[in-house]
Amino acid sequence: MTNFPNLIDGEWTMGTQSVPNVNPSDTNDVIGHAASATTEEVEQAIEAAAAAQVGWGKSTPQQRFDVLDAIGTEILARKEELGDLLAREEGKTLPEGIGEVARAGQIFKFFAGEALRIPGERLDSVRPGVEVDIRREALGVIGIITPWNFPIAIPAWKSAPALCYGNAVVMKAAEAVPGSAWALADIIHRSGLPKGVFNLVNGKGSKIGPVMIDHQKVAGISFTGSVQTGQQVAQGCAKNLKKVQLEMGGKNPMVVLDDADLDVAVDACVNGAFFSTGQRCTASSRLIVTEGIYDAFVAAMSKTVSALTVGDARKAGTQIGPVIDQRQLEKDLEYVQIAQQEGATLVCGGEKIEGSGHFMSPALFIDTANHMRINQEEVFGPVATIIKAKDYDEALKLANDTEFGLSAGICTTSLKYATDFKANAKAGMVMVNLPTAGVDYHVPFGGTKGSSYGSREQGRYAAEFYSTVKTSYMQA
Ligand code: NAD
Repeated sequence: MTNFPNLIDGEWTMGTQSVPNVNPSDTNDVIGHAASATTEEVEQAIEAAAAAQVGWGKSTPQQRFDVLDAIGTEILARKEELGDLLAREEGKTLPEGIGEVARAGQIFKFFAGEALRIPGERLDSVRPGVEVDIRREALGVIGIITPWNFPIAIPAWKSAPALCYGNAVVMKAAEAVPGSAWALADIIHRSGLPKGVFNLVNGKGSKIGPVMIDHQKVAGISFTGSVQTGQQVAQGCAKNLKKVQLEMGGKNPMVVLDDADLDVAVDACVNGAFFSTGQRCTASSRLIVTEGIYDAFVAAMSKTVSALTVGDARKAGTQIGPVIDQRQLEKDLEYVQIAQQEGATLVCGGEKIEGSGHFMSPALFIDTANHMRINQEEVFGPVATIIKAKDYDEALKLANDTEFGLSAGICTTSLKYATDFKANAKAGMVMVNLPTAGVDYHVPFGGTKGSSYGSREQGRYAAEFYSTVKTSYMQA
């Protein structure tokens, strides 16, 4: 059994309180115990970060490259081992866990490169003899708050750009997945980064979050999680005039048109709706299918979904792992009931699977209308619905009829409809003949409407949040 301590000013500390980290595939398996930071410890971490940021903000591009590159190299070299830890504590399958770790390593490699080319501009002033230069500078201390469903990729895609642009970090990972956060912090700690630049505080969000949000020395908060928590974070940041970036939920549509390749559509929908147990903000939980392909699609989906192997995340052959915890499992099963009460027909799955983990069979519904709660509220589990549409125009309308706008997909062989969908889907990311989930690490990630708030994450667009712009005028 392992301890997952806090990292404060370069020192590991377990403090006096700790919380067990339990394997959702087998609740008898206690992976370790995570520290639970006190208010004083969070404040110490912030003070340490503020002091260390002064030096790190002046570091050279080469120093930043070396640190970020070293972190990426170690993550990639240990992807099997770290992927196993991730699958054990979060419940995504082992190949998904290893894939996520590899992505975290690639993100650090990407931002190592970005550190060498932080852009600036030089312009002539409108006044004679005066020149203007515009440069990007660090924001200061960044508070990072992450969810449990991508235990290493999300901490990586926030901390790598934060460090790249010269900031110091205080990170609070989700309570359910302290192991991956600790493993990442350990790699960062040994990378040559000066002590205090990166700090990790574990514990309850409702306790630690407000300390970070209200602290005068935290310049910005980057948050990923639910809409409800995101709103609280945004309100706190507005009160403190703090920069904020929120990535939140989704109710992502996948449109399947009559002219779609059926195999491509079923693959994209099964992957998008159910892989990672449906616990992805980009999961396609609404499958909007036009009349001509509807019967064939429902038959093929039902056959494929009912044949999916649900089981221990780390067991070879498992396709769908457990739900993260008992509370989420109860919520998923409650939505299965809600959908039936609303008049939806359950085609397959939707049942609790008895055993030592939090398992349920993937649920697929037909006879659903877009206004139903099952089609408007994020379930965040292995539950998807099929909505019948008359034609492309109606499908597009239904796809956009949601308060969310993260990812939207279409399966079609028509260039006309693919092009129109890319232009008119109200979402931050659009996928054609691809699952709504599964994105690259070097391009922007984020949504519109209720899914996101503030500037984009990842790729070169991350600079918008993690740096501030200074304009200097000089007369020679
Ligand atoms: P959550 O909102 O419950 O928690 C997210 C984080 O916020 C956790 O670290 C939690 O401890 C912390 N937190 C809780 N209360 C807080 C408070 N008052 N102040 C500050 N922080 C607080 O979300 P979750 O259950 O961990 O994650 C699932 C949600 O995350 C889903 O809605 C999913 O769609 C979303 N998500 C979004 C993206 C994206 O990029 N858009 C990616 C992954 C997950």
